Amino acid sequence: MDTILKNITLIDGTGSNPIGDAILAIRDGKTLYAGPASGWSDTNEAITLDLGGQFVLPGLIDAHVHLAGSGEADSQFRAEDGAMALKILSNAQKNLAAGITTVRDLGGWNELEFVVREWIQRGEFAGPRLCLAGRFISITEAGADYYEGMYRVADGVDEIRKAVREQVRHGADLIKIGVTGAVLVEHGVPGATHFNEDEVQALVEEAGKFGRRVAAHAHGADGIRKAIRAGVHTIEHGTYLYQDPLAVQWMAEHGIFLVPTLKVGWDIIQANDSNIPEWILEKNKATQGEAQLSLKMAYEAGVPIAMGSDVGTPLNVHGENGLEIYWMGQAGMSGMDAIVAATGNAARALGWEAWIGTLEPGRVADLIVLDSNPLDDLYVLADKKHLQFVMKDGRIAACPADHELPSGLLAEHLLMIH
Ligand SMILES: [Zn+2]
Repeated sequence: MDTILKNITLIDGTGSNPIGDAILAIRDGKTLYAGPASGWSDTNEAITLDLGGQFVLPGLIDAHVHLAGSGEADSQFRAEDGAMALKILSNAQKNLAAGITTVRDLGGWNELEFVVREWIQRGEFAGPRLCLAGRFISITEAGADYYEGMYRVADGVDEIRKAVREQVRHGADLIKIGVTGAVLVEHGVPGATHFNEDEVQALVEEAGKFGRRVAAHAHGADGIRKAIRAGVHTIEHGTYLYQDPLAVQWMAEHGIFLVPTLKVGWDIIQANDSNIPEWILEKNKATQGEAQLSLKMAYEAGVPIAMGSDVGTPLNVHGENGLEIYWMGQAGMSGMDAIVAATGNAARALGWEAWIGTLEPGRVADLIVLDSNPLDDLYVLADKKHLQFVMKDGRIAACPADHELPSGLLAEHLLMIH
């Protein structure tokens, strides 16, 4: 039986203007029709839910998440494997409950995220779609001790090729490389280039053999330049990108995405939490203005932008991902472009745009329903009181405890019925 959501305002994730008095028809978990009520006619048997003018958007996609972290103040993710698998599952479910129907994890833990993905796919647990990088490929450096279960150290072209093959063998959907130093590693220098150009090129080539895209952690301008010349698909953080206008232009011309991760710094700076080590606070204070400037410059130059909250990092908890969209707006993006960065564009950054990211016929019916217009105030996406319910594959995957579900729903509309 089909499901019809009627009396909705549709924001479809493509960047098109919202459509009032719209209808979204769902068949077999996919969008069958999304558009003005006047354009819909079908005689199939259907359950119709009247949403009273509420706003329907595609399920959000967070392109930069660490499921193994729960926002620990000192950024120490550690747990025994059994506990860690449960932590990853619980964090994944918090994303789904907040309307993040697809999560790209850019650094898991001891390959446990692959087990969690398998159990979600088998239907044993509710959870978002997981796009997994496996381990973060890094040169020999201090971060590898700090994030022991997350890193795969590889020095030189041969080791890099092997590291890529290992991730692919474990089931990685993409490869993550640390091209520069990190903010959240105690003596890490974010501006310093770690891998040499031949190493980054070998990684991109090896990943490409298996059809895998590459996400490059890169703060410094030199590292960003090496990464984009080697052909990576997304630049994560891109803190000092503003220092190199040619790199910005190159990214725009080649469609290389920037995933700016502004929420990490804001959470740490605004919290004023004494549990945050001094070095983490100082490094974030030093780089936040530059990160915002880089996003603004890239956005104005036409670089494609994808939303990534980096949840899992200090105080940056799963389920609050939507705040990143608000910060993107504060940095200069229009409301619609910030929403597209978290939907249609994020799907393109993952290479999954053929089946997720927009509410168009043939795409999966992953969606969120909001009681207020996020185009008037992006904070609506960060404040869960506005979230009415979440659908994944056309079924209700989450509904906040104090909210009512629309009448007319059947058990088959719920994700976890056995
Ligand atoms: Zn990260």
